[in-house]
Amino acid sequence: MYDLVIIGAGASGMAAALSAKKENPKAKVLILEALPRVGKKILATGNGRCNLTNFSATPESYGNPFVASVIKQYPPEKIVSFFSSIGLESVSDSESRVYPMSNMASSVLDCLRFEIERLGIEVLTETKAESVKSVNGIFIINSKMRTKKLIVSAGGKASPSQGSDGSGYELLRSLGHRITPLYAGLVQLTVKENLRTLKGIRVKAGVTLKNKSGKALDSSSGEILFADYGLSGIAVMDISRSVKNENCICELNVLPELSAADVYTFIERSKKRNPSQSAEDALTGIIPRMLGHYLIKMVGLSADIRLSELKEQQIHSLADKLKHLTFNVTGTKGFDNAQITVGGAEVTEFNEATLESRKVRGLYCTGEILDVDAPCGGFNLQWAWASGIAAGTAAAKSL
Ligand SMILES: Cc1cc2nc3c(=O)[nH]c(=O)nc-3n(C[C@H](O)[C@H](O)[C@H](O)COP(=O)(O)OP(=O)(O)OC[C@H]3O[C@@H](n4cnc5c(N)ncnc54)[C@H](O)[C@@H]3O)c2cc1C
Repeated sequence: MYDLVIIGAGASGMAAALSAKKENPKAKVLILEALPRVGKKILATGNGRCNLTNFSATPESYGNPFVASVIKQYPPEKIVSFFSSIGLESVSDSESRVYPMSNMASSVLDCLRFEIERLGIEVLTETKAESVKSVNGIFIINSKMRTKKLIVSAGGKASPSQGSDGSGYELLRSLGHRITPLYAGLVQLTVKENLRTLKGIRVKAGVTLKNKSGKALDSSSGEILFADYGLSGIAVMDISRSVKNENCICELNVLPELSAADVYTFIERSKKRNPSQSAEDALTGIIPRMLGHYLIKMVGLSADIRLSELKEQQIHSLADKLKHLTFNVTGTKGFDNAQITVGGAEVTEFNEATLESRKVRGLYCTGEILDVDAPCGGFNLQWAWASGIAAGTAAAKSL
């Protein structure tokens, strides 16, 4: 009989185990992990650097009042101290994103692993939780393991090659919890237009996602990367949560620093200076050449049109296209390519401070399996660590 079993040795599960053992050193704690090794996803985070939190993270960063209690209890500064207490020092960049001082995600995982070992927390890898039953206040996992308290930290459905295959949702459903509709989040968008000529181009842009009736669903700004299938880059990933199953329009402002009038003036000035210059050559002064080429075609002009041939209305059309370049979104690159899951265990069924289930006493949930998500920049791991610490501490206190 264990005091506490944690399903999933990901970010939130390991934080939960360490916090439980610190709170109650005598507790018999076990982590079950389906994969052959713990924390595989952590190694892939932040492009291998692990953006472990963000100093600007506040409850408002999540657009979900449920997180307020946990994020206030364990703000980014406390997460940084938590890591410092297990031997990992960190640094932050100009956008308040926090990384390990070594710049290696493996350092984050190593420090967690070493502490788990030091504190004598048992870990069973290659052991997937397939079933959970709650019988007379005791949880029985896979019909054999017994525990007084259970924390489900199995993650969502995003990036299933790193272990989060959605099986945690079935465990929670079997215990009577509701799961809200699930969508891929922080993921690339596929579009109807052929973007092969733009592949590899990066721009800083404003992005607005609209539904077919023109209503704005979401917006962001930052880097956009054009790909042959569609759009990628942080700003696009950040609005991808709002695509859901809708057919949407993605509108880019590829020159956020200039107004349409500024663009008009730029083209007019270029025309006066060198009327025989092609419009495409002139536009390279403000945007990547191939993007200029694409825009010229989009407004129905011939690719080699000279500035002298441009009529006033056509200059206005070009300026307007630069500020409102639209693409028909056909979907996303799906869970296989997503960084997070949008949707999850219905949060009203959990206590917002302890993350204990309101339906099954002694059951807790942490991290991405709950219906909580946030933009790129360290906010999702912030939630994973903070919710893990909150649930681990509360579960150990209640023993
Ligand atoms: C490529 C990539 C890059 C990312 N970069 C960042 C970043 O830089 N910053 C940031 O804030 N967020 C980032 N994220 C998001 C972040 O990694 C997740 O939000 C976070 O890991 C969620 O933690 P979790 O503990 O809830 O779940 P996970 O980390 O997914 O862990 C769940 C664990 O449970 C195990 N498991 C699942 N089902 C079972 C079962 N039935 N039995 C036993 N074990 C099971 C899985 O194998 C896995 O180890 C990134 C995600 C990806 C995919």
